[in-house]
Amino acid sequence: MYLDTGVLSAQPRHNQRLRLGDRQPPYSCTRCGRQYSHQPGLIRHRKQCEGRYDIQCPVCYKQFHRRDACKQHILSKHPDYTENTTTA
Ligand SMILES: [Zn+2]
Ligand SMILES: [Zn+2]
Repeated sequence: MYLDTGVLSAQPRHNQRLRLGDRQPPYSCTRCGRQYSHQPGLIRHRKQCEGRYDIQCPVCYKQFHRRDACKQHILSKHPDYTENTTTA
């Protein structure tokens, strides 16, 4: 008869309180502004982010990966261009 004692090594849990709005993650994607607290995460994201272009400017054919960015671009660069197609 024996007792299993000391087997359970209780790991102390660190109660990390994240103060949102207080600190900003140091790494942020310059393209879409997505923020990461660790650089590897950002590097991995940027590979996807930069290699992915879904939207293209119909005027100068500049490529964007976000519709918002393309809209902003059109508004600022081609103010005369009116977008007739509104896709939901
Ligand atoms: Zn990004
Ligand atoms: Zn353009």
